Formats: sequence, C-alpha cells, structure tokens
Amino acid sequence: MTTQARPRIGILGAGQLALMLAQAGETLNVDVICAGQPGDCAEQAAKVIAVDLEDAAAVAAFASNVDLLTIESENIAADVLHGINLYPNVRAVGIAQDRLLEKSFFHDCGIGTAPFAPVDSLEDLRRAISVTGLPAILKTRRMGYDGKGQVRLRSLEDAAQAWIEVGEVPCILEGMVNFEAEVSLIAARGRTGEVAFYPLIENHHREGILRTSIAPFLHEKLQREAENYLTVLLEKLEYVGVLAVEFFVVKDALLANEMAPRVHNSGHWTIEGSETSQFENHLRAIVGMDLGSTKSRPTVMLNCIGIMPSEQETSVFPELSRHDYGKEARPGRKVGHLTFPASASAAIAEWQRRLQD
Ligand code: AMP
Repeated sequence: MTTQARPRIGILGAGQLALMLAQAGETLNVDVICAGQPGDCAEQAAKVIAVDLEDAAAVAAFASNVDLLTIESENIAADVLHGINLYPNVRAVGIAQDRLLEKSFFHDCGIGTAPFAPVDSLEDLRRAISVTGLPAILKTRRMGYDGKGQVRLRSLEDAAQAWIEVGEVPCILEGMVNFEAEVSLIAARGRTGEVAFYPLIENHHREGILRTSIAPFLHEKLQREAENYLTVLLEKLEYVGVLAVEFFVVKDALLANEMAPRVHNSGHWTIEGSETSQFENHLRAIVGMDLGSTKSRPTVMLNCIGIMPSEQETSVFPELSRHDYGKEARPGRKVGHLTFPASASAAIAEWQRRLQD
C-alpha cells in the first residue's frame, strides 16, 4: 500500500497500551487501527479488527491494509512478524522476547546483568546453580511477564520441583540480585537516528507486578550511564520507536534486567508528566516525525491491580488523573492506573494504602 498524507498505523494487539497509543494518535495526523478481538479495551479509542495474532496469513492480510505496524507486546511469534513493515524491527523484538538472547545481547553491548546460565534440563539446572549461586530465579526464556513463568530457588533441593513448576521448558537461571532500587529508562529513537530520553524512573514491584513508578529518579551519574547503555542498544538494533530498559541499582551502578521493545508501564506517567508522552513519541518516531520534548515534571503513577476504583471514589481527589482501561476485574490483572503530581504526597500515600490493601 502506498504511503498517504495521513499514515495508517496498525497495532498488533488491542489492550491498554494500544488504547493509550490510539489516544495519543488523536492529536497527531495519523489513523490508528488495532488487530485484536471484539471487546478489547482499545475499542474505546480505535477501530479494532478481529485478527488471530498467531496466524501469519491473518496478520499479513491486516498488514496489507495499513502503511506500517507496531506492537504492544513482544510476546508475538517472530515468524508472524517477518515480511511486514514493522517498527521496531523484527530483530529487536526477537531478542526482547527471549530472555537468553536478551541477556546475551546486553553483554555483547558491554552492559552488566545478574549472573545467568541457560537451562534446558534438570541436569542443566543443577549445573547452572554453580554459575549463579543461591538464591536464584528460574525464568522461562519466553512468554514471561508480570512475574509469570518464574520460580525462586533457595537450595539445591528446590531444583527438581522448580523445573516441574516452570513446565520443563527452555529457561535461564539468574542469580538473585540484592538491589538498592529498581529503575527504568525510556528512550525514543526516530527514523533519522534522533534520540530522546525521559528521566530515570524508580519502580516498585510486588509479586513480580509493577505497583508504583516515581519520576524522576534523580541521580546524575546513573542517568548518564543508562543513557549511554540505551544509545548502544538503540544503534546496534537500528531501532525505531520507544524502547524501555529495566535496571537494578547495585552499589551505585546499573545491571540490566530486561528490555521492552514498546511503550512501557513505567512510562504511563508521561501522559500528564511530560511535554510529550511516551505514546506520542512512539507514534512520532515510527511515522518519521520529529520527536517531541521529553521535558518532565515530578510525577507518581500507581497501578490499579485486580479492581478499578470507582470514579466516585477518585473524584474527591482533584489532583489525580484516572485511567480506566475498561477491563473486567480479575486478581493480578492491570485494569487501570492513577497519576499524581509528586507534590500531592497526602493523596499519593492515601491511594498507595488503598490500592495495596
Ligand atoms: P522480570 O519479569 O524479570 O522483570 O521480574 C519481575 C520482578 O522480579 C523484577 O522487577 C524484580 O523485582 C524481581 N526480579 C527479577 N529478577 C531478579 C533478580 N535476578 N534478582 C532480584 N530480583 C529479581
């Protein structure tokens, strides 16, 4: 299809990240259309076409009706992604969807990680423990998110049970990092190679799920170190779009944990907190527009996990912005988020208490 004055962007997926990308597209001269299922939450802001994302022919047919494509999840089979006009490119997505390739790539780029070893059998797992030490975390190489596909090991005796619990699929074993903080850096790279960084974000997880993001994590040395790392990753991957990398802070240095080749939950605060949100900058990057300013104000985001507080409950806190993804309540599910200026400390403390209950 020829590129028209108003680019048609196809998103593979129609969940909350696609929803917020579509909302950002409303102020740009672009059309956003999503491949998903009827009832997916992006329907609030975009046309959603029923497409089976595991069916290469169905994805190719969807691709033929748009100018370019992007993803909202890296957990899409790479063979479905070949031969379509995808941003970021399929190599970047392929690396990010496999924890072994991802960690090896960090090392190739001179970026430190927790000690790790590949595990394809129970014998491998026992050997891997001598590389990583204990405690350690066994993670499936693929399809892990929000703490899923992970089992912690405290002693050698845990190995057999852990191997069964992960489903005896290809894994990596990682040494447990005793971190001082978890942070992420979000960057956008345009088609001309222009790069924009957001400030480092401090993230708090519980049960493997992100609960709170606080921006900025003010640390000049680590901001510089993270920007240098992402510059290498972006250039080596010839990356176009938004990339997020999660790090552990250990003894005033960074160890990379994982990267997401897409907009990221730890960057949702940028909708209110930055001059240009991560969603808008992703769209700008992939259609070839100049990137927008990432100048930001101190901001806090709280995830709503399992159940969304009602509008009646949140409306008495004028300082908060409520984002309801319109998803059915379910334990462990991200159903929305709340954003606050960092100065609203009493409201933040109150909502942290309510949401963690
Ligand atoms: P992941 O899916 O790899 O992002 O893991 C989810 C969360 O589990 C991370 O944000 C950390 O809080 C924790 N975690 C994962 N890997 C490690 C590790 N090697 N050491 C310590 N904590 C970890």
